[in-house]
Amino acid sequence: SSVFAGLAQAPEDPILGVTVAYNKDPSPVKVNLGVGAYRTEEGKPLVLNVVRRAEQMLINNPSRVKEYLPITGLADFNKLSAKLIFGADSPAIQENRVATVQCLSGTGSLRVGGEFLARHYHERTIYIPQPTWGNHPKVFTLAGLTVRSYRYYDPATRGLDFQGLLEDLGSAPSGAIVLLHACAHNPTGVDPTLDQWEQIRQLMRSKALLPFFDSAYQGFASGSLDQDAQSVRMFVADGGELLMAQSYAKNMGLYGERVGALSIVCGSADVAVRVESQLKLVIRPMYSNPPIHGASIVATILKDSAMFNEWTVELKGMADRIISMRQQLFDALKTRETPGDWSHIIKQIGMFTFTGLNSDQVAFMRQEYHIYMTSDGRISMAGLSGRTIPHLADAIHAAVT
Ligand code: PLP
Repeated sequence: SSVFAGLAQAPEDPILGVTVAYNKDPSPVKVNLGVGAYRTEEGKPLVLNVVRRAEQMLINNPSRVKEYLPITGLADFNKLSAKLIFGADSPAIQENRVATVQCLSGTGSLRVGGEFLARHYHERTIYIPQPTWGNHPKVFTLAGLTVRSYRYYDPATRGLDFQGLLEDLGSAPSGAIVLLHACAHNPTGVDPTLDQWEQIRQLMRSKALLPFFDSAYQGFASGSLDQDAQSVRMFVADGGELLMAQSYAKNMGLYGERVGALSIVCGSADVAVRVESQLKLVIRPMYSNPPIHGASIVATILKDSAMFNEWTVELKGMADRIISMRQQLFDALKTRETPGDWSHIIKQIGMFTFTGLNSDQVAFMRQEYHIYMTSDGRISMAGLSGRTIPHLADAIHAAVT
């Protein structure tokens, strides 16, 4: 007997549970397109060369110690992370209006930001896109915010429901928080155009809605770090305030190192100092201070111009391979004369394609073809290769005919 005898079995996580099921499948042709992690053309996880080099430098440095970091993390890492997303010439950085704290990857940054807002911001409602990354509603609810959604994706066009988005944000209460995917929206792969971003910005600023950007894919969408930060930089350029959660999981391949940052762009330098002091009170009782290794890797790369350039080349290599997978999958369906319009595969951006396959078709493809994806029909393009695309195209063809 146990004091926990009455405990119910919890369901698997909808995204990570796909990998659990995949691991149990003995089929030699199985393909995991569930989790958003980059794979090489050989289907292997990738450690970037520049990351290996940075790690070697860290290990060979005799003055390296394993002391605790401050509550706010590695100072160099924080400065360089803000510069990476906001731009080197960002007025907010130059005016010392940005408070940045190192957090446990993107998820931890979102959670710390959510907890901070629940404690110190006057409006507790956060609007998240419909659909969005499955963890968003849980992170913000447990942080103490009230989660609502705004229209984002139109299944009919497989594109942005821009009118619905403007209507929903237009009728949100003044001051409400709005979660925005900086680029490469997960799971849809649909981003607003720069013109649309400008309209969103104007609407949000006119209603004093507070932007909370989630940037998990900077550089992964277009292959350019600066281009993928344009949406964010528009909102910083107008002088207004915002929150920013950054992850290095995908763009530096540091998934398990859990390295990310939360930045709060404030109206003035003295507010930023007080904001940082309160962020420390959020972090200290949660995990005390963040881990040192991943942040040291990132700081080593970001502060050396040769290593930074090497990183951008490797990053573009990953982005380009994903873009080529889109084209190959699209071509394979065309060759098979698979019914339907599949142009969204090449139009969507970033790591995922939101295929439009329904949960029955997803189940069929798992059962008959050993292809694993989330039940909403999202596939990770980064998990595909020239070898697995024909198998996937066969499966999709069979699922829709
Ligand atoms: N936000 C979005 C939209 C994501 O897709 C992810 C990862 O899949 C994350 C945040 C957080 O990832 P991590 O905590 O691994 O940085």
